[in-house]
Amino acid sequence: MPNLRELLPLVCCMSLLSCAQTPSSTTNPSSTAASTISTPAITAAADAPVITPAPMLTEAEFASCIQTFSADAKKAGISAPIIRASLGKASLSKRVLELDRQQPEFTTTFADYFNRRVTEQRVAQGRALWATHRALLDRVEQTYGVPAPYLLAFWGLETNFGGYFGNMKVVDSLATLACDPRRSTFFTIELMNALRILDEGDIAPEQMLGSWAGAMGNFQFMPSSYLKNAVDYDGDNKRDLWHSKADAFASAAKFLQSLGWLGDERWGREVKLPRNFPFLEAGLKNHKTLTEWSKLGVTRADNSPLPQAEMNASLLVPAGHQGPAFLVYDNFNVIMRWNRSEFYAIAVGQLADQIAGGGALLQTPPIDAPRLHRQQVMQLQAQLNQKGFDAGKPDGIFGPGTRRALSEFQHSQGLVADGFADHTVLKLLGIQSAPASN
Ligand code: CA
Repeated sequence: MPNLRELLPLVCCMSLLSCAQTPSSTTNPSSTAASTISTPAITAAADAPVITPAPMLTEAEFASCIQTFSADAKKAGISAPIIRASLGKASLSKRVLELDRQQPEFTTTFADYFNRRVTEQRVAQGRALWATHRALLDRVEQTYGVPAPYLLAFWGLETNFGGYFGNMKVVDSLATLACDPRRSTFFTIELMNALRILDEGDIAPEQMLGSWAGAMGNFQFMPSSYLKNAVDYDGDNKRDLWHSKADAFASAAKFLQSLGWLGDERWGREVKLPRNFPFLEAGLKNHKTLTEWSKLGVTRADNSPLPQAEMNASLLVPAGHQGPAFLVYDNFNVIMRWNRSEFYAIAVGQLADQIAGGGALLQTPPIDAPRLHRQQVMQLQAQLNQKGFDAGKPDGIFGPGTRRALSEFQHSQGLVADGFADHTVLKLLGIQSAPASN
């Protein structure tokens, strides 16, 4: 029933589309995405168990492993010249091994994450690029049903609109990770798929560059996503996700379509919560209709009522009750199939809205929220477990289970049960929350 859905805003601020700015690469989107192992097709790697320190792969082990892969590639039908030009020239990358072994020491706050990615400059650049590529983006939307602002938002977050693709040789990176026993299965599949892409002639081996984890081109596709979703949209018989904007946009849109994108729906929206809102109702897995959320006093951020609709939504408070609140819809889950991070999905949605003419967040996230060291998260988990709130085995990762346990503990203490580790609850649990230094 489309009339009951909260449809995309038809806002289109052409007057704002003229402020082109020079791209700036304050962050390195490629390495950011790869460091969370969650670019389009690295998603599966995020399911891999948490990694413990392992010995470095040696040159001898690498050489022997490459021999095996070369034989496997031959059996899989990859042509001999491609095997020689790719695996035949592959070298072990110590840098890739180091990056793969790095784990973030501190949790990232929503303010820190969001404010680095959804910037005025990026919004302005997105609007300018929309104006530049309007005809192409319209055509892509007609073909795949993904509106331009979302494609621009993914493009902005993944590679700063093509400003940085990563400059590591994909075959070296994938061969290194495939030969390293830690996540060999996943990366062996990606390596073989990279060889297939080369064999199909889309790109020459020396030009196949990407992130340290093998994510490629404007939208940082892993080889498996590339094989499934890359489209030759400009008709030159090559699927070139690096140099052809037509191919890149169409491929990203096709990928989103395959992940279940609902073309006429929003991702979600910022909302306002009433005083005494029952925060135990928050969380991605907790669905209610917009009508039910309205009954709990939730309004749009500007205080106007939510649409009275049967559409399902979940409520997120990524920076706790003092930060912004969001109701998120089915397309939010589609974004999370691209990258399994709530922060990422909110950033995509907000960037898309702002590129489409929307304003900044009305409730800005507090910037003094504590960042927790992994050890402090483990301590928090152990404390919650000890008090009878199941945070799972302490692993130093502040995930949904920990958040839930913390909410329940907060509730038991008469605190706002937002599952957010603020200074008050940390103090109550005896965890020192001095501001973390970089
Ligand atoms: Ca093409």
